[in-house]
Amino acid sequence: MKEKVEQSLPWICDKCKKELALNKVKVSYLGGNFEVELMKCPECGAVFIGEDLALGKMLEVEKGLEDK
Ligand SMILES: [Zn+2]
Repeated sequence: MKEKVEQSLPWICDKCKKELALNKVKVSYLGGNFEVELMKCPECGAVFIGEDLALGKMLEVEKGLEDK
C-alpha cells in the first residue's frame, strides 16, 4: 500500500533550502485585509500557500512588508 503523508514533511523553501515557519501574514481578500497564518521562509520571506487552503488562489499576499 502506498500512501504519501505530505503533511508530516517539513516545508522547505526551494530557493534557500530553509525550513519554513508559521507566520502571520497580511493578505488582501475580496477588498478586505486579513491576517492569516501561513508557512513563510525566514530567509527570503516567500509565502507558501497549501492546497488545503481553499482561499489560496484568490489570496493576494501583500508583498513589500519586508522589501529590502
Ligand atoms: Zn527562501
